[in-house]
Amino acid sequence: MFSIRRDRSSAIAKVQLDSLMEAAGDAVFRLNARGHILSASRRGADLLGVPEALEGQPLAEFVLGGEQAALATALDEAAASNQPVRVKVRLKTPLGPLWTELQLMAYPATPGEREVLAVGRDISGQHATEERLRHMATHDALTGLPNRSLLSDRIRMAIAQARRVGKGFSVLALDLDGFKKVNDALGHPIGDALLRVAAMRLSDTLRDVDTLARVGGDEFVAVLPGAVAEAEIQLIARRMIGSMQLPFDIQGHTLYVGTSIGAAIFPEHGDSEVKLLAHADTAMYRAKETGKGRLTVFNHDKFTQPEHDVSMEAAMFQAVRDGEFLLNYQPIVDARTRQIMGFEALMRWNRPGQGLVSPAQFIPMAENNGLINLLGAWALKSACVQVRRFQEVAGRPLYVSVNVSPRQFRNDQFLDIMDEAMKLSGLDGSQLLLEITEGILMSDPEHAEALLTAMTARNVRIAIDDFGTGYSSLAYLKRFPIATLKIDRAFIKDLPTSVKDVAICNVVLSLASHLQLTTVAEGVENEDQFQFLSRHGCGLIQGYLTGRPLLPEDAMALLRDESQQTRHAVAAQ
Ligand code: C2E
Ligand code: MG
Ligand code: MG
Repeated sequence: MFSIRRDRSSAIAKVQLDSLMEAAGDAVFRLNARGHILSASRRGADLLGVPEALEGQPLAEFVLGGEQAALATALDEAAASNQPVRVKVRLKTPLGPLWTELQLMAYPATPGEREVLAVGRDISGQHATEERLRHMATHDALTGLPNRSLLSDRIRMAIAQARRVGKGFSVLALDLDGFKKVNDALGHPIGDALLRVAAMRLSDTLRDVDTLARVGGDEFVAVLPGAVAEAEIQLIARRMIGSMQLPFDIQGHTLYVGTSIGAAIFPEHGDSEVKLLAHADTAMYRAKETGKGRLTVFNHDKFTQPEHDVSMEAAMFQAVRDGEFLLNYQPIVDARTRQIMGFEALMRWNRPGQGLVSPAQFIPMAENNGLINLLGAWALKSACVQVRRFQEVAGRPLYVSVNVSPRQFRNDQFLDIMDEAMKLSGLDGSQLLLEITEGILMSDPEHAEALLTAMTARNVRIAIDDFGTGYSSLAYLKRFPIATLKIDRAFIKDLPTSVKDVAICNVVLSLASHLQLTTVAEGVENEDQFQFLSRHGCGLIQGYLTGRPLLPEDAMALLRDESQQTRHAVAAQ
């Protein structure tokens, strides 16, 4: 025992205390009220590694700077109470900092003077576990990079910092070109190994102050504090692109990928995390569309609509948060019996002071600024849940048709979102129809094929919306598992008087019949059109004639009426 102070009046008590401290086998320190060491058990002295220099030293001297204030507070607290106070500190030991929990207990040493007994417990194991858990919650398991949640923190910190010191930063969205092909052809283990190497190479191109996060399959985001000049961003992006262009040697395979990068700069291209990420994403898609392996910096003028739309775009971000979007449901009826077979969910924006805004106005913009992913996921989930209620009211199966935009379709998380929608609603896959346009299939056929196969496995059907207005190639009808063609209103409008429309509709109906596809005629407004389509084998009708897009409660009322009429008809027979 290294006893420093021998107070005659309490010598016996001290000796007893010292023996106890030794017997405990712990690292124990006796401190005066100011936290200076009076004595230490052998274990305590060994721990700090300087037995001879302990005398009169403040214990805080042996604590790492970050926790000295915590120790001082804990000492004050302990001195002022009769309760033990715990504090976690890193003690400086000859073997490096050691996480230790100190339990501080004050006691009266002499009348009018209190001392503090500090008992230390090594918690480095527990601390390492906590650190590991914290790391797991904020990092991607595959690459060890920060995950989306930590990225979000870092962007928020960068915004706060930029506002404080008036210095901007940039956000880069990266997506690997050609990664999917590797993953599909060689399997996930090789894909994973490639991602790990890619993550390392990308990190190596960045500075210590930068953050590189993995936010999805082959999607990364970099936050670059201080980098606001396009030339500087170009330089960094070129390093990243270069690092991805080198071949990857993975388990005996020599693989080639690349990366496309989109950049958004704070505050010009967005003053919030959501906007910066969405705009960097938009720019990245632009980079992909215009040749891959390049950087595109976001540009309000080029990527969004004219001036008045900028305020609309800002309003849209707000509207998502405020829940101003809603879905209308338009009945789709059987062309022979006129019975309702399903509904198409059509999005509306109830903009305060402006009434309902048409999707024709806001969907292209949402597609451009990336909000469509959020809106689309919401629409899919709500529509599935809603149609289950319709089914309950109608007492029979009904399907729901949901529009999917190209950007949603390209989103890696789309399948998960769909699964979640079905799980949430309990809707059977066969009762969900996803409407896509021909262009989606042609722009990335391999991705489309994989996704459609996964959907078929879930019994979810695919319809080609606005059929006849897109690409002229019909090859995709052969290649992809398509269930339904929706004949565009442009060909229905002048039925049955326009000879050309009659010819086009007849060809489409005949084609669909040979390929065993269901047909829906869009935009049917009058009885003549209905009769023509019904006679020529069109399966389903959608249009103002048989029902306008309705609020959910109006659609329910319609279903109630319909089932009542059916009951009356059956009773009358
Ligand atoms: P669409 O999918 O082709 O939807 C059919 C459009 O025709 C709807 O326009 C509908 O209201 C309208 N319509 C239906 N019957 C008639 C009719 O008899 N006469 C006329 N003149 N029009 C009729 P809406 O609701 O304005 O939607 C426009 C487009 O916006 C949709 O075209 C679709 O491409 C897109 N859209 C709507 N909701 C969503 C959505 O949730 N997600 C995505 N990605 N796109 C959506
Ligand atoms: Mg549609
Ligand atoms: Mg359509």
